[in-house]
Amino acid sequence: MSDKSMSSEAVASTSAETPQRLSAARKIYPIVKYGNPVLEKPGASVKKFDAELEQLTEDMFASMYAAQGVGLAAPQIGLSLRVAVVDVTGGKNPEAKIVLANPEVTHAEGEVREEEGCLSIPGFRGYVVRPQFVTIKAQNAKGEFFEIRGENLLARAFCHEIDHLNGILFLQHLSMLKRDLIKRKIKKLRKQGEW
Ligand SMILES: [Zn+2]
Repeated sequence: MSDKSMSSEAVASTSAETPQRLSAARKIYPIVKYGNPVLEKPGASVKKFDAELEQLTEDMFASMYAAQGVGLAAPQIGLSLRVAVVDVTGGKNPEAKIVLANPEVTHAEGEVREEEGCLSIPGFRGYVVRPQFVTIKAQNAKGEFFEIRGENLLARAFCHEIDHLNGILFLQHLSMLKRDLIKRKIKKLRKQGEW
């Protein structure tokens, strides 16, 4: 999920000496854009929890920070797999890094209507109703099960990323009118070679 509100800070932090720079060089994946069928099919369950998966999730965090996002799902890097990463602090707090493998919503409460964007649909935003609180059951990169509760932006990020793992984009939560408008604009951009 993209977060416009924190983009200026994220830009500032990449030019400074941050702890991220001191860690091993990470692979920055290009983000797959709307129109690629991988974004609209459900991902396969994660079955192998090994060093390769840990490396993949670290590379996904790096790719997400590079794109100034707060969440990134594997289909967005062209991988049809049920794993996503979330960090609503934009890399400022290492403890806020959350890997969600095979996540499921076990409880949802309340409703919040807020503007939302997606790294795979750059330049477009829309109002989406999401639960105010959600509880997620998932596995971490080591395969350990855990439960986590999210509120507001974190709850929204969890729901947005889990949607990705099910092949659902935020466009599907918009009114038909708004959705068609965005789709038409993307079609036009694609014709101009700008998508
Ligand atoms: Zn997204």
